[in-house]
Order: sequence, then structure tokens, then C-alpha cells
Amino acid sequence: MPGSNLPGMTMYVLLDPRDYSIRYVGETRISLSNRLSSHMHDPRDNARTRWIRELTVRGNRPIIQPIHGTDGETEEYWISWFRDAGCDLVNTLGGGPHHVQPRELVERRVAAIAAKRADGTFKRRPRETKSACRNGHEWTEENTYRNGKGQRICRTCNRERQRARFDWKPKP
Ligand SMILES: [Zn+2]
Repeated sequence: MPGSNLPGMTMYVLLDPRDYSIRYVGETRISLSNRLSSHMHDPRDNARTRWIRELTVRGNRPIIQPIHGTDGETEEYWISWFRDAGCDLVNTLGGGPHHVQPRELVERRVAAIAAKRADGTFKRRPRETKSACRNGHEWTEENTYRNGKGQRICRTCNRERQRARFDWKPKP
């Protein structure tokens, strides 16, 4: 089944109907319309429910769309994937049993670099001399995103890959 992660699970995103930005990544066993409805009636208070309430008080609702072509990737994978693509997600980092607080993550990363410096295995990134990505998009500040590993990500390429995953088109 397209869009599924574990058997019976559908990976999905919630989009803001005002600008079609992707704001949330989730997975569910129930139908997407039921999942959307449960999101809209979630009484808890967090970044996601505040965003949804901001929409519903104006008579709007998020758009729910399956992520197609997934190949067993976890929800966490997609959360970082969309964040790396520059999406402003209302997900709390990770979620589920692997939930890690951002602060802990940063501290762990700093500790890992310190340990590498101490034993001499820390290496700086090689100098980046190319002026464009492999598809010819210029590495301007605007077009460049650094992922968690400090690698350069081309926002234009990412956006194009992201578009290709959805079979919907924004209305003109
Ligand atoms: Zn590119």
C-alpha cells in the first residue's frame, strides 16, 4: 500500500490551507479523514493543537495528505527529512519511544564532538568550493540548509523531491 510504513500504518502530513506549507508529520492506522477529525478535537495544549485551533477559529482546517513511496522509514526519519527541507513543523522532536528533548540532543552532539577532539579523531569538514549543487542550483545562503550532520542540503532540490511525493496540486 503506498504511503505505509509498518503494515496498516499510513504516514501523513498536515498542511496549512493558507499557504500549503507542511506543518506536521504523523502516522496512523485509522483513515486519514478520521485522523484529521481526531486532530481537530484533540483537547491537549501543544504546538500542534495551538496551530490547528488558530485555523479552526477562522473556519479553516488542515489539509491531510499521505506521504507516498515510503519504504519503511520511521516517523522520526520523516520529521527530520521535512525539517531538513526547511519545513517549520509543529511536531515535538521524535515522539514515541525514541522521544528525545532537543536540548539533550544538542548536549549529546556537543559531547560527541568534544570526545572526538580529545582522542584526535575530530575532523573539520573539507573546504566547500563548489558554487552549485549537482543539479546546478547555486549555494546561496537562501538556498542552503545544514542538516544535523552539518552537510549542505540544496533547498531547491529538496523542494522538488518533496513536491514529487504528493499527487495533489495547489489551486492556482
Ligand atoms: Zn539543487
